Amino acid sequence: MGNGLYTGEMNLIKNKYSDFASHLLAWYDGCSCNFPWRDCKDPYKIYLSEVMLQQTQVSTVLPYYQKWIQKYPTIQSVANATQEQILKQWEGLGYYGRARNFHKSCKIILDNMGGIISSNPEEFSKLPGVGPYISAAVMSIAFQHPLPAVDANAIRIGARMEMVDLPYPKNLKIISNYFDNHIPIERPGDFNQAIMDLGRKICSADKPKCRVCPISINCKALVNNSVDKYPIKVKRAKKPHYNIAAGIIWNKGQILISKRRENGLLGGLWEFPGGKIEKGENAQTCIIREVKEELGVLVQPTSFLKQIKHAYTHFSITMDAYHCDYLQGTPQAIGCDNWKWITPEEIRLLPFPKANHKLFDKIIVSESIC
Ligand code: SF4
Repeated sequence: MGNGLYTGEMNLIKNKYSDFASHLLAWYDGCSCNFPWRDCKDPYKIYLSEVMLQQTQVSTVLPYYQKWIQKYPTIQSVANATQEQILKQWEGLGYYGRARNFHKSCKIILDNMGGIISSNPEEFSKLPGVGPYISAAVMSIAFQHPLPAVDANAIRIGARMEMVDLPYPKNLKIISNYFDNHIPIERPGDFNQAIMDLGRKICSADKPKCRVCPISINCKALVNNSVDKYPIKVKRAKKPHYNIAAGIIWNKGQILISKRRENGLLGGLWEFPGGKIEKGENAQTCIIREVKEELGVLVQPTSFLKQIKHAYTHFSITMDAYHCDYLQGTPQAIGCDNWKWITPEEIRLLPFPKANHKLFDKIIVSESIC
């Protein structure tokens, strides 16, 4: 902007404090949620909470957030940790790219910005993993920039308030402009947090509680008796299911594990080598092929260990795990980022995907039997 003002600031000079914002903030003041990241204006804690809350429910995030703050109370403490330590701390929260990006960001903030999170939205947006939502949320809550934070909650509310006849992401611009016109310059962080709370507690996806909604008077979908229609839904593809085989490869009391490619799904986590069972294969032949392709070694499956079923957010798996004997070859990181031999006890010290955790007890019991 030539005059240095954001769109929201310019709109509010014309339209100081909208009816909608007044009702919303009065409700928020009466029943705002007392989350630990809300008891301070520490940009680090606000940034961390927003990263954790992306695509994850508050109830899931709370214990992770509290444990994280105990172990990593500052940007410096995150920056000085290894990626493996960071992934271990994040283990189970999913979407591991968030943890890797947060770690990289903290290193950049420490090395290039004097350890202080910039209050400039443009600067902050350049950090890894910081998209429009995280940027607006952190900048508004920590530094009072009037930038609307438009996540799934805000999209749902905005689509209903304005009866936006477009599905996501085509509806994003209209909804962002709508909130941009209403976010108050005096309390932008509270406004964004009120929208988050309203989406969680009142304007939920199923059965919104319109009778007790503080902004029902401004809601076009309610007035037109068409709340069920918004936001416009698109038919989602069915979640894919994969049949996987994994080998617990033993050699002299140790197990061979591989590290997943950093930029892929579950990137940076360790796992028991294996992969998708292809047409014409069974679990054992799949393990032999996958281990050869991934690590360049020859193994022989010897006995069945366990079948695991696990549902991730975007897909589900059935995994057949087999004990294997290591036969020959020096491991190489061909289809993975790294490999190592570990004792069965060490598996609990390293970050693994959740599905692999379901094998841990059995592996340790097998070792004691052997
Ligand atoms: S009136 Fe109902 S649909 Fe409209 S914003 Fe409130 S809860 Fe959502």
